[in-house]
Amino acid sequence: MLRVEGLSKRFGGIVAAYGVNLEVHPGEILGVIGPNGAGKSTLLNLLSGLLRPDAGRIEFLGEEITQAPPEVRTWKGLGRAFQIVQPFPEMSVWENLMVGALYGKPGTGLKQAQRVVEEVIALTGLAPKAQTPAGELTLLEDKRLELARALATRPKLLLLDEVMAGLRPAEALEAVELIRRIRASGVTVVFIEHLMPVVQALADRVVVMDYGQVIALGHYDEVAANPRVREAYLGR
Ligand code: ADP
Ligand code: MG
Repeated sequence: MLRVEGLSKRFGGIVAAYGVNLEVHPGEILGVIGPNGAGKSTLLNLLSGLLRPDAGRIEFLGEEITQAPPEVRTWKGLGRAFQIVQPFPEMSVWENLMVGALYGKPGTGLKQAQRVVEEVIALTGLAPKAQTPAGELTLLEDKRLELARALATRPKLLLLDEVMAGLRPAEALEAVELIRRIRASGVTVVFIEHLMPVVQALADRVVVMDYGQVIALGHYDEVAANPRVREAYLGR
């Protein structure tokens, strides 16, 4: 579904991504882990188009998108949810999601957008809050809204950067269930997460990054037992 070859990005003297090769398979949930500063967010920013790589190539659904602007990637079905949630605070949950649905794909009509919003509101459990101003939501509801906003753009592949940050354990479990429902609805998921129980519970495969490089890739149990991975976490 997504193929990354030799992806590299520097910030001055810092190598945030170096020669990253990666494939994302349709229907999977792929976890991205690694110590702080390993380059996980940089990788997602390169995939979503917020950053352009210095070298390498990104292919999505068989098409090269290496230099495509973020909105073009969204239109093609590459969705993104952010750690820091920034809805329009005075607008209701419903209105925020309508914005996502209308701008997620050019040419979306009002009726179609309404159908999409109804679907994502049901999927994310936000129905009781549909008319609530986004500024009045709890943290967990904020996260639901951010996932719903990304889903309203109708992604085939959804990129999530630490969407559980700040949640209590019970809330994180709810978010795990929600991400499972999202996958069951036909969306492929790539997620960055530092809570290992969440990674273990969700990921079909796990990518481990360190100093901008992929140092391990496999099932959770394999990478958790990998000496290089243990060293990366202990060494910082
Ligand atoms: P992670 O998400 O794994 O914690 P990041 O991708 O955010 O890591 O960062 C990787 C490295 O690149 C870090 O050393 C970070 O300080 C640096 N970095 C990330 N974004 C920028 C930026 N916009 N400008 C300068 N340095 C950056
Ligand atoms: Mg990060």
